[in-house]
Amino acid sequence: MSQERLKIVAGNWKMHKTYQEGRDLAASIVEKLTPTQTMVVLCPPFIHLKGISTIINDITHLELGAQNCHFAEQGAYTGEVSAPMLRSVGCRWVILGHSERREYFGEDEALLAKKVDAALAHELRPIFCCGEKLEVREAGKHVELVQQQLQGALFHLSAEQFGRVVIAYEPVWAIGTGQTATPGQAQEMHAAIRQMVADKYGSEVADGLSILYGGSVKPANAKELFARPDVDGGLIGGASLKADDFVAIVNAF
Ligand code: PEP
Repeated sequence: MSQERLKIVAGNWKMHKTYQEGRDLAASIVEKLTPTQTMVVLCPPFIHLKGISTIINDITHLELGAQNCHFAEQGAYTGEVSAPMLRSVGCRWVILGHSERREYFGEDEALLAKKVDAALAHELRPIFCCGEKLEVREAGKHVELVQQQLQGALFHLSAEQFGRVVIAYEPVWAIGTGQTATPGQAQEMHAAIRQMVADKYGSEVADGLSILYGGSVKPANAKELFARPDVDGGLIGGASLKADDFVAIVNAF
């Protein structure tokens, strides 16, 4: 029912790189990566997906993800991209609920629940992002907030569906700021998330869940973060744009 717990390092390129620059970055990552048991996921902008799929084609443990998708299969949603479209260009993963989507595009749990359903219906594995802003942490409400995010967007799923989900804990105050959560802070939240999932779906599902940390992960801090028992990898923004740094983070396991 549940998946084996994977070690995962996913690169969120956000709105960076022209098409050719993106292809060059993917080719450079392919060249530098040594065979690994860690699942490596590249999440470039939509228009790069097809071109990069031919570069990473057939490489074990190197897969393609998108940064967002729409909840409908198709329709009059100008400018949007659907889950079946993503599958048709070789995507296997999709980041959902990134804090930038929440902040700048008003995405909330009700919308994200529909996007998660669409992704799963089309065999895309969601990398579901959760995490608190600084004021929430300072008020001591961060665990409560993350619980609400999971409840609102994920906990309607069956255990079998939930087994396909990956969670990325990304404290908003650590994203793109250079301020990383300490390994202790990350472990504490990851353990709390695993407990929430165990309470909802049982320990077998919780044990199989991969929980990634995101927020200013760099080669210099990845090893210490990934050494924590409930940190199963990272969602990497800035450092995923440099092949050497990204591969060094993959190798931090
Ligand atoms: C992200 O955007 O998911 C992220 C973690 O960014 P950064 O690594 O740049 O903080």
